[in-house]
Amino acid sequence: MKTVQMFVCDVCQETSEDEENMLKHEAWCLKVQKQIDEERAQRAAWGQLTIGQLLEKCKELEAYSDWPVVVADQIGEQYHRCQISGAYSYRGNYSELSLNPVASCQSKNPAFSLRGLSSLLKEAANSTYTGWKGGDFRMDKDTFVWISEVGVSGGLMVTGLRVVNDYPEIQLVGRSCPRDR
Ligand SMILES: [Zn+2]
Repeated sequence: MKTVQMFVCDVCQETSEDEENMLKHEAWCLKVQKQIDEERAQRAAWGQLTIGQLLEKCKELEAYSDWPVVVADQIGEQYHRCQISGAYSYRGNYSELSLNPVASCQSKNPAFSLRGLSSLLKEAANSTYTGWKGGDFRMDKDTFVWISEVGVSGGLMVTGLRVVNDYPEIQLVGRSCPRDR
């Protein structure tokens, strides 16, 4: 029996009998992985939360499950005091999640409560969304979250969730991406 030596990419585990091709492939795979890691580190440094991190914050505030969720822009006034009405693929990066902001006065439905936001995120973490120009994008707990209208790419990065007793409400805190300014 003839045995064929297989070469394996350390990054994606793809295999090939051609060593030279595999070395080229692996170099490319490492470069892409490095870019992805750097991008994730940069977003984390800017304070952007993933679905999993935001769900943890929802859980910490469980006692306030019935309170309405309202957007608060940390820096500017974008989507300030909007409510949330759903989730889909973000136009600025199809593989990331976007929460849809609606002005309170335009909303036919009652404001999303914290419980509603939490259910929406749990569902999103196991869902596949269609990108603005097509394609399927699977979201999970490591997916970054934005606040942005359908078809808009310059949204707010979600950076926090906090209780405001004065209104009372739960503020979904966001800030524009430094790269978009
Ligand atoms: Zn690979």
